Amino acid sequence: MKKYVYYFGKGKAEGKAEMKGLLGGKGANLAEMTNIGLPVPAGFSISTEVCTHFYANKRTYPRSLTSEVAAALKKVESAMGAKFGDPKNPLLVSVRSGARASMPGMMDTILNLGMNDTVAGGLIKKTGNNRFVYDSYRRFVQMYGDVVLGLKPVHKDEIDPFEVIIEEKKKERGVHLDTELNAEDMKDLVGKFKRAIKQKTGHDFPEDPLKQLWGAIGAVFGSWNNDRAIAYRKMYDIPESWGTAVNIQSMVFGNMGETSGTGVAFTRNAASGEDLFYGEYLMNAQGEDVVAGTRTPLPIADLAQKNPVIYKQLDRIRHTLEKHYRDMMDVEFTIQEGKLYMLQCRVGKRTAFAAIKIAVDMVGERLISDKEALARIDPDQLNQLLRPVFDLKEKDSAVKSGRLLAKGLNAGPGAATGRVVFNAPDAEAWKKRGELVILTRIETSPEDIKGMDAAEGILTARGGMTSHAALVARQMGKVCVAGCSSLEIDYGTHTMTVKGKKIREGDWISLDGTTGEVIEGKVATRPSEVLRVLVDKSLDPKDAPVYQQYARIMQWADKYRRLRIRTNADQPDQALNAVAFGAEGIGLCRTEHMFFGEGKIGPMREMILADSVEDRKRALAKLLPLQRKDFEGIFEAMNGRPVTIRTIDPPLHEFVPHEEPAQRELARQMGTTYEKVHQRVESLHEFNPMLGFRGCRLGIIFPEITEMQSRAIFEAAANVQARGIPVEPEIMIPLVGNVKELTHQEKIVRRVAGEVMKEKGTKFRYLVGTMIEIPRGALTADEIAGVAEFFSFGTNDLTQTTLGVSRDDAARFLIPYVEMEIYPKDPFEALDRTGVGELMKIAIAKGRSVRPDLKVGICGEHGGDPSSIEFCHQISQNYVSCSPFRVPIARLAAARAALSDTPLAGAKKKTGGKRSARRK
Ligand code: PEP
Ligand code: MG
Repeated sequence: MKKYVYYFGKGKAEGKAEMKGLLGGKGANLAEMTNIGLPVPAGFSISTEVCTHFYANKRTYPRSLTSEVAAALKKVESAMGAKFGDPKNPLLVSVRSGARASMPGMMDTILNLGMNDTVAGGLIKKTGNNRFVYDSYRRFVQMYGDVVLGLKPVHKDEIDPFEVIIEEKKKERGVHLDTELNAEDMKDLVGKFKRAIKQKTGHDFPEDPLKQLWGAIGAVFGSWNNDRAIAYRKMYDIPESWGTAVNIQSMVFGNMGETSGTGVAFTRNAASGEDLFYGEYLMNAQGEDVVAGTRTPLPIADLAQKNPVIYKQLDRIRHTLEKHYRDMMDVEFTIQEGKLYMLQCRVGKRTAFAAIKIAVDMVGERLISDKEALARIDPDQLNQLLRPVFDLKEKDSAVKSGRLLAKGLNAGPGAATGRVVFNAPDAEAWKKRGELVILTRIETSPEDIKGMDAAEGILTARGGMTSHAALVARQMGKVCVAGCSSLEIDYGTHTMTVKGKKIREGDWISLDGTTGEVIEGKVATRPSEVLRVLVDKSLDPKDAPVYQQYARIMQWADKYRRLRIRTNADQPDQALNAVAFGAEGIGLCRTEHMFFGEGKIGPMREMILADSVEDRKRALAKLLPLQRKDFEGIFEAMNGRPVTIRTIDPPLHEFVPHEEPAQRELARQMGTTYEKVHQRVESLHEFNPMLGFRGCRLGIIFPEITEMQSRAIFEAAANVQARGIPVEPEIMIPLVGNVKELTHQEKIVRRVAGEVMKEKGTKFRYLVGTMIEIPRGALTADEIAGVAEFFSFGTNDLTQTTLGVSRDDAARFLIPYVEMEIYPKDPFEALDRTGVGELMKIAIAKGRSVRPDLKVGICGEHGGDPSSIEFCHQISQNYVSCSPFRVPIARLAAARAALSDTPLAGAKKKTGGKRSARRK
């Protein structure tokens, strides 16, 4: 019979860390902590398979589940020496969700379950602590009412009915804090809560603990498909099919008085990565108090003085966990009357800065290998290292002139500037109209997740470093200042008051997430440390610790990756930036971008509007020296690295003016009439220019253009080579669908190369290749490879032509398409492996069947997308080419792709594959 329930307790567990798929992250780690001897309250996990069954069978359970739960509950009772529902010696449990991937706060939790009037009476007898018992009881009834009985507000303006009752009670008693309410008040709240439930649902609150338990189990499974969880899964690519487990665990209490407490901690600093115990705790509190941000918790270091015994024990556990898991862990603990219990551990979320520092440090500490370090850094995280920080001078002067509004916790590092909005829907709406916003909230909750995503930065008035705002912001890589208690936020009037100043919705503020400062107005930002070292060269690597870590990671990435990384660049400064980031060549130089430079657009327009071959040649002659100079700049910047230069591609109408005054001016410059210019421009009009007169079609109909461009490239190559700088030009013909198109253009290119060599009395190496960017090109790649010395996938065009979706105006339906999961992601961002990818595989197989050493790359935008890079690696391309700032990301993504297919690499090695895969 299939097993659905896994017990843990008293040093032994049926599960283990590797069983995350079945037990969820929380369940698997509770089992693991139990097995390595940490103090974990006994409990059991109901597997994710039950969740799958639940949804596949009209929200029902497998038949054997009831008896398995009953048997596990017995074991828990015996481990804890208490009985579920027994008034003399009651066992209370928590019921929590736990998916394979952590989804903080997205699903439901119920604490103190098993409580009813008789149990409460028994507990009072046992503990002699009325207040604790009724406090636990009222929390339970509220949670149960909210989560299981559906009283939780759904709309942003609704208020939790239980909170209304609590507020009334506090008013009646003339107090401000929940903690100021006494046992009688709490007891009264329980009664009032139950009456509210009866009134809203028409049913009595269930007193039977088993009924409560099954109600809670159903609610937790049900919460897998609540709106928040669905939105979160989409955001983090968590498949719906994974399902959640349900963890039922004996309660231990942090709210049993001043010798009890609860806390959350990271085994290292999650913001900076420093090897310091980092966390917060509150005495006489339950976990929700720490996370909800309603009371500001104390730093964990305080515990070393206040309770050295517990602190030492916790610190030992921190080291045990790091040694065992070989990673930075995030733990939850509770102290019940002086005894420590571990309630959860999981791999800790961290900023990009921390991820890199921890990975590099752990290699140094021999906890992990360099390969593991690479696997732990998400390539997109590197983006954060390349992010701007505030210009220090500007910031200093802002502070000195009294614009420092407040200081909160530095919960998410980086610099953000934007306009204040006070709720998540507004953040989303403002972002949609192109505004930069700072989402400002008293505290955030999982409902705010989309608004947080839309914001540049997040500012909260309440909550600690592990509050919801802080955790989620770090995970998203957002700048965040949390717990900024001097802000008085008024949601009603959309204003906040701080230091006597009123800040209104729409006002600019700036957040320094590294120091926690909140500054009035805009503050200019300045490039990151990595950029300062690599690009501006204004910082010495010795003085740049973040840069040093970045450099180690890049060094390891380069050791393992097999893909070469090139860049898409058409200006020397772009090329130099890309080389600083590690680019090994140019994979796409779009020559048409050069025509918009100084002095070129005029002759370009003359060339386009020319009536005759002679006129066109005259205009081209003016362009030749200008283009040659451009290419010389590029060759010099690349200093011998391969440079793929594409002949002109876009439809010609993109270069001509469409407004009458500009056309008149052009007519004047060309010494012709406005009417003539106007008529020529009109004749260039096409209904679908992206499939029209562009790409190699231009060079075929106007061969003089290809001739001029080839001459400019080769003369530049000869000139630069004559200056002692090696050159490696690769001429790339775009939009080829028929080998005859390529043959036509290749002939021109090779003839001009021969002429230039002869004229200059020199020799240089060059290649002629093509872009594969329309399906016919891919399908006839064997014919094309007979001529082409390399292929470069133009996946922007290949995507639009394969999908039949125009790349310019598809957003209108592509965004809903992605929401409806017709495509898992925007296919112009992440390669459509099944469609476009299949054509790429065909092209490579056919191409290499004719030319086994055919060099294959990609230069569409996908060349900088980690998942697409992985695919390019898998189909044994030689290189990817991406924008300069994505080069570090591509290096890491390529290494991770190589490391995730070690067996394949091993197999290749035997045939010398690694070398041959590095063909340039
Ligand atoms: C492509 O189509 O992928 C490509 C790189 O060319 P462009 O975007 O210039 O059409
Ligand atoms: Mg293209």
